Amino acid sequence: MRIRMALGIWLLGITLAWLAVAPFDPGVLPLVDPQGAASGGWRLRQHALYLSGLWSIGLMCLAMLLSLRLPWLERPLGGMDQVYRLHKWAGIGAAVTALLHWGAKESSGAIKALWGTAGRSGRDAVLPWLADFRGLAKDLGEWAFYLLLAMMALTLLTRLLSYRPWRLLHRAMPLLFLALAFHTVALMPLDFWSLPLGLLMGALLLLGSAAALWSLAGWIGRSRRHAGRIQSVRVLGDGSERAPVEVICALSSRWPGHRAGQFAFVRFDRSEGAHPFTIASAPGSLGTSEQGEPLLRLIIKPLGDYTRSLGQRLRAGQHVDIEGPYGRFDGQGGRGRRQVWVAGGAGVTPFLSLLEARQPGVEPSRSRALPAHLHYCTRDAADDPLLPRVRSLCERARPPVALTVHDDAQGQRLTPQALEAGAAGPLDIWFCGPRGLGDALHAHARGPRPWRLHRESFAMR
Ligand SMILES: Cc1cc2nc3c(=O)[nH]c(=O)nc-3n(C[C@H](O)[C@H](O)[C@H](O)COP(=O)(O)OP(=O)(O)OC[C@H]3O[C@@H](n4cnc5c(N)ncnc54)[C@H](O)[C@@H]3O)c2cc1C
Repeated sequence: MRIRMALGIWLLGITLAWLAVAPFDPGVLPLVDPQGAASGGWRLRQHALYLSGLWSIGLMCLAMLLSLRLPWLERPLGGMDQVYRLHKWAGIGAAVTALLHWGAKESSGAIKALWGTAGRSGRDAVLPWLADFRGLAKDLGEWAFYLLLAMMALTLLTRLLSYRPWRLLHRAMPLLFLALAFHTVALMPLDFWSLPLGLLMGALLLLGSAAALWSLAGWIGRSRRHAGRIQSVRVLGDGSERAPVEVICALSSRWPGHRAGQFAFVRFDRSEGAHPFTIASAPGSLGTSEQGEPLLRLIIKPLGDYTRSLGQRLRAGQHVDIEGPYGRFDGQGGRGRRQVWVAGGAGVTPFLSLLEARQPGVEPSRSRALPAHLHYCTRDAADDPLLPRVRSLCERARPPVALTVHDDAQGQRLTPQALEAGAAGPLDIWFCGPRGLGDALHAHARGPRPWRLHRESFAMR
């Protein structure tokens, strides 16, 4: 909802600024005059070309700004995972509107073939110092457009390219942005540089270009990166390939601390880069190392090629960089609403931290926690190394947390309806788990039910 609203407000702002500089009479009707000249058609094409171009570059600027991982955006958008979702949809929106822009440009062939060039207005004047770069700006724009479409296809059709090479390619997006920013500045009509559109686009292009250069320099998240070391590594459960790994990290005293439910970008290995993992311990619950360094826990499930190798790769004493903390998944809903927590698979990690924050002896969080009901979905309860820990944390939690286990191996699949069983009044649902279950809850929450769904997204592509 917030994502749709943010995109809507962004596009509306650009459209209103364009309307303020567009001619009062758009001059599009009739499309073809009685003499057979398509002056209206040509004008319509011109408006569509400019407006779609403004939308597309405006959304690209938004995507670039969001890629900076600015912590102050977390509050209005509901967490860094949501900032990433907006970044993704802004990128997709930029590609779709670029397609409209390209379509408007290519429509000249059809208009010419049907009605000829009579009534077509001449080229608009552009910034004089860039007038000689018209050809270059057009070519750059066209190539950047094809690459943008290819990137969108690779982002949406995840089977085409696995995450790692996709991520490497995605790092080149700032270069694509800079090419499109040049295309815009060189080809935007001179009239558009007047207020308020000129100020808006000037500011967006400047900020977007600065963000692109920041990203190319590798400075994103730099001020929130903290050096640390691995204190201990333990493969949980039967120690098999599918077992999760528990990693305790000792951080420098500059670590600002975290709130239960937050996550961090963790880099064990320079060549691999950072992966997001939830901090699966409550603030201060693990105390400090012998050297007085704050400790925190990660629980990593072997869900992909890299995470599968971590059990063998990681050793105590190894260096680790932790960037964060990020996120607002705090499990604290509104008063008068029943708090329902839903965890599936690796999605149990934020709840481990929230449960640990409710244990006797752990410093309570500043906001007052409410009783909750945790629904934990597991593939096989008999074989789940985290289940005993979840049970004992729930038993000792204050305020209390009731636990219901949904065991796939016994055919106990959680349905959205089960969350309402025996419940009166509105619900606050906190969900972290597989996308399919999240989508089912989302669809259910949109019905005529007093549900509020808070969803931590584990997918960043
Ligand atoms: C906010 C958040 C918190 C998370 N917390 C945990 C946790 O506590 N425990 C846990 O086991 N898993 C957690 N994950 C998932 C974890 O990040 C991925 O499972 C892991 O990065 C997979 O890496 P891979 O190379 O082994 O897998 P791959 O097979 O290469 O990738 C599998 C999927 O993981 C995601 N992914 C891979 N690399 C990255 C990356 N560098 N950055 C972002 N996403 C990536 C992509 O969606 C990809 O499609 C979390 C994810 C997010 C977004």
